[in-house]
Amino acid sequence: MKKVFIFLGPPGSGKGTQTSRLADKLSIPHIDTGSLLRKNIQDNTELGIIAKTYIDKGQLVPLKVVADVIKDRLSKDDCANGYILDGFPRSVEQAEALKDIMADLGKFSLKDDTMAVYFDIDNEVLIQRLINRRSCPNCGTIYNLISNPPKIMDYCDICETKLTTRKDDNEETARARFETYEKETAPLYDYFKQMGILKELNADVPITDMWENLKEIIFEE
Ligand code: AMP
Repeated sequence: MKKVFIFLGPPGSGKGTQTSRLADKLSIPHIDTGSLLRKNIQDNTELGIIAKTYIDKGQLVPLKVVADVIKDRLSKDDCANGYILDGFPRSVEQAEALKDIMADLGKFSLKDDTMAVYFDIDNEVLIQRLINRRSCPNCGTIYNLISNPPKIMDYCDICETKLTTRKDDNEETARARFETYEKETAPLYDYFKQMGILKELNADVPITDMWENLKEIIFEE
């Protein structure tokens, strides 16, 4: 089985939910650049101040900033047995940077130890999903008011904290994020396919079916 997984797909395609499940099952960390960047914003770090201006516009944060965050995270001990990348790389330029970072760290290689899973779903379905997305600021559980609502409206099923909407989940920013995705991230499909590490997952099915299909893809390798 591969050791490193890259979850690739448009915003809101279910990557986050499936990554958490797989990370639990394989006992490897879930590394999500969006959350790492938001944590820096929350802590008001220098890096967070730079990142915020891009995130608020739905644009990609510059490579240097994201590469530093990722390299630092991948050097931690808990990545020794593998990891799942969610939201990174988001451009061919970032994939090339990842290849170099992995080579520098000397543990895994992009070509031989990595599987890229492409979450396949129509953009318009996703824009609606994003606008209806809510998350728990306390435990991180993600809900969707239409497809996966909490039992009590607006409150987390697990810890009962009031759910919040991410600032960039409004329609205008959501559309900008899709434009960025099409322009910058979609070319990674061909990039990983040519490298021979791409698998496709139908992401327009309920969460539990997606999980069953994902396990088949991952464990059949
Ligand atoms: P996400 O939580 O993955 O939807 O990311 C939210 C925002 O964080 C994105 O719209 C980007 O502005 C920024 N971001 C997250 N990951 C990256 C990345 N790999 N490269 C550049 N910007 C990123």
